[in-house]
Amino acid sequence: SSQSALNFGAGPAKLPREVLNEVQSELVSYQNSGMSLMEMSHRSKEYAAINKSAQDLIRELLNVPINYKIMFIQGGGLGAFAAVALNFLGKTGSADYAVTGTWSAKAAKEAEKYGTVNLVFPKADKPGKIPDQNTWTLNPDASYFYYCDNETVDGVEFPYIPETHGVPIVADMSSNIMTRKFDVSKFGCIFGGAQKNIGPAGAVVVIVREDLLGNAMKICPSVFNFSQVSKENSVLNTPATFSIYVMEKVLKWIQKNGGVDGMESQSDKKSNGLYAAIKNSGDFYSCPIEENCRSRINIPFRVGGPQGNEELEAKFLEEAEKRYMYQLKGHRSVGGIRASLYNATSYEDVMLLVQLMKEFQIQHQ
Ligand code: PMP
Repeated sequence: SSQSALNFGAGPAKLPREVLNEVQSELVSYQNSGMSLMEMSHRSKEYAAINKSAQDLIRELLNVPINYKIMFIQGGGLGAFAAVALNFLGKTGSADYAVTGTWSAKAAKEAEKYGTVNLVFPKADKPGKIPDQNTWTLNPDASYFYYCDNETVDGVEFPYIPETHGVPIVADMSSNIMTRKFDVSKFGCIFGGAQKNIGPAGAVVVIVREDLLGNAMKICPSVFNFSQVSKENSVLNTPATFSIYVMEKVLKWIQKNGGVDGMESQSDKKSNGLYAAIKNSGDFYSCPIEENCRSRINIPFRVGGPQGNEELEAKFLEEAEKRYMYQLKGHRSVGGIRASLYNATSYEDVMLLVQLMKEFQIQHQ
């Protein structure tokens, strides 16, 4: 149907309708060429323009300094976990990891294949808080310090950039890239899968400080070698051309809608609205995450009390679907409900969810 779904999925996730319409309009004949962009060489002038524009837009939107390379790889976030270790871990053989949830835990596990991983604080049984920084055991000889800026499954987002006393910081921003401003110069490397805030699945954006390039392990696959990929301007081999083409349009859409500042104020407004609804429900809805590190983007909550009532939660999801609200089921490891509020999700969409929550509570409390 042409009715646009209220898509609260964690990823792949909602894309701006405008972008999808534009893609549709040029799907079979890109710029009157008589062929789709999908059917064109990654070395064509058409794709070269897209590749350049996408990188330029990322540089502009995130204010990326000139001593940082911007590139695209494949292999998803999971591939990037390995790529990070393969590119940087060889320096001292050891790296520091802050494990605050599912994805940083997976990243640490991946890195263990290639060297020593030091967890800067013990892994919690249940994610939901970030231990105070002055309790962390940082290794001054770490090749890098790694963390996940926003834990998509658990709903934990860092409220600050960690202080590592000169050790390069590597951050997974898969689920919150382009949702708030941050100082790129504080990082050694940032990466993010496209499939949440900036495009379809298939491409990963990597931003790396130049002086960290050139130290990859011998066993590092060429497609993951940041130095090689950036030297070849992200056409070392065939990239995910269609994903990057759509991504470029999403980046333009972000630019048109106030840039990252615009996305940030929308994110604040959307998440504040949803958290307020949870808070004002008198524990009918509850979020298990400590307030200082609650994600603005992925918001897990339980229905029917802090432990959750699975029957009510199933009913809630049913009621949501009747109202065209989809993909609200919590991750299988966490349960409950999870609302993901990526850039393409509007404040109005979130208010419809809040409306459902209020009505559902009146009916089922
Ligand atoms: N990091 C984060 C923060 C994620 O949310 C995800 C996917 N949900 C990944 C990494 C893994 O991405 P992929 O599925 O593309 O490997």
